[in-house]
Amino acid sequence: MEGRLFIDGKWETASNGAFSVRNPSSNEEVGTAADGSREETRKAIEAAESARPGWAGRTAAERASFLKEIHRLMMEKQEELGELITLEMGKPFQEAKGEVAYAASFLEWFAEEAKRVYGETIPANSPDKRMMVIHQPVGVSGAITPWNFPQAMVTRKVAPALAAGCPVVLKPAEDTPLSAVKFAEICEEAGLPKGVFNLITGQNAADIGGELMANKTVRKVTFTGSTEVGKILMEQGADHIKKLSLELGGHAPILVLDDAEVEKAVDGTVASKFRNAGQTCVCGNRVYVEENIYDTFVERLKEEVEKLAVGDGFKEGVALGPLINKEGWEKVDRHVKDALDKGAEIVTGGRGWEENGGYFYEPTVLKNVTSDMVIMEEETFGPIAPVQKVSDENEGIHLSNNSPYGLASYFFTESMSRGMKVAEALEYGIVGWNDGRPSAAQAPFGGWKQSGIGREGGHQGIEPFLETKYISIGL
Ligand code: ADP
Repeated sequence: MEGRLFIDGKWETASNGAFSVRNPSSNEEVGTAADGSREETRKAIEAAESARPGWAGRTAAERASFLKEIHRLMMEKQEELGELITLEMGKPFQEAKGEVAYAASFLEWFAEEAKRVYGETIPANSPDKRMMVIHQPVGVSGAITPWNFPQAMVTRKVAPALAAGCPVVLKPAEDTPLSAVKFAEICEEAGLPKGVFNLITGQNAADIGGELMANKTVRKVTFTGSTEVGKILMEQGADHIKKLSLELGGHAPILVLDDAEVEKAVDGTVASKFRNAGQTCVCGNRVYVEENIYDTFVERLKEEVEKLAVGDGFKEGVALGPLINKEGWEKVDRHVKDALDKGAEIVTGGRGWEENGGYFYEPTVLKNVTSDMVIMEEETFGPIAPVQKVSDENEGIHLSNNSPYGLASYFFTESMSRGMKVAEALEYGIVGWNDGRPSAAQAPFGGWKQSGIGREGGHQGIEPFLETKYISIGL
């Protein structure tokens, strides 16, 4: 596949040429993507600005019908899109097809939400006044997305922007640009007016992102990625007080209380920890278990984790694909070695290897884990479950909250009253109570503390693309 830039409804080659996109399972070339520049980003922004009045001026129902058509086309091409995700990102094909359905669900959800951007009237402070509040599209929006969900992170941003009436310039991750190219093809096939959706793929993220941040025409930037880059964007945005939504890193705790149903806790831990080979910002990163069920939990977790096969995502029965690249693999390996040096023990797994240019790591469970290990502080982005013993619920809550991050957290208990207390005590934007799979289009996704600003999904997800206007009328 040879991906091009999509600007103003036209496919263009980039002045800097193209770059190679590789399969992380084999390091083979999957295709090439256009290497977009700052200049081309500017052109895309101008195209979006030209399209803005027309798009914002359509009725919500008209915008919704485009979104529904994109949803329909995505589901029609679920296999094809899933294959592309597995090829350029590595996740198992079944999981990739699941991502396509999840990605498409944002189109459907925001098609409906577009119609519910209600204003309000306010009782006035004088008999000869009337007061009203309306919401209007914020304007041209830039979106920067990561590689771990090449389709879903795109639609979680683009769908609410389009629903709100904002044209978009998208910069996808350089590791996985081809899924975004397919998405642009679908937008074109759905008949989206030219300039409403524009795509700038490229290797020079600082140039493309820099233009999105510096250009005054871009009123809003929505980003998913590392906390490190999020901080750069906040600094760059200071000049124009750029509206920003940030979905940044996480370090999710999983707290298993002694009245948990062990089967539910193990199932939830496997789902949260090993999905996408541990490469999601909501993956459980550290597990705390009350001491009287510690051994039982670890033993059952071991049995389930040993059922997970590692390999090429297209191979039947594979549950974990490769890690995205060598750097990702090295980080995982460093975290495991540090834990072992500090006294952790391997319950299962612990082996990583390179094979035909792909970097793989066995799903791993560590026990005798302590808080001084790097893995208990830093996001691992790999298939390692370190399990630490805690003496009681309060210690578990304290350790869970002792982090600069606040994206997702999980806990397991069958007790309603304990559960409500823990759910309220966790300083996290997302809490899964007996649930390792909380993400859904209709629910708000986002983090506290250094995990970000703003929410995506839910009825909240459209708000970042709207401005509020108060109109005071003298009679
Ligand atoms: P990850 O560690 O998951 O790759 P990054 O934050 O590096 O996370 O990447 C997320 C997205 O941010 C990617 O699309 C990447 O190209 C982009 N990006 C990286 N550096 C910058 C930057 N300086 N400005 C804007 N975008 C950037």
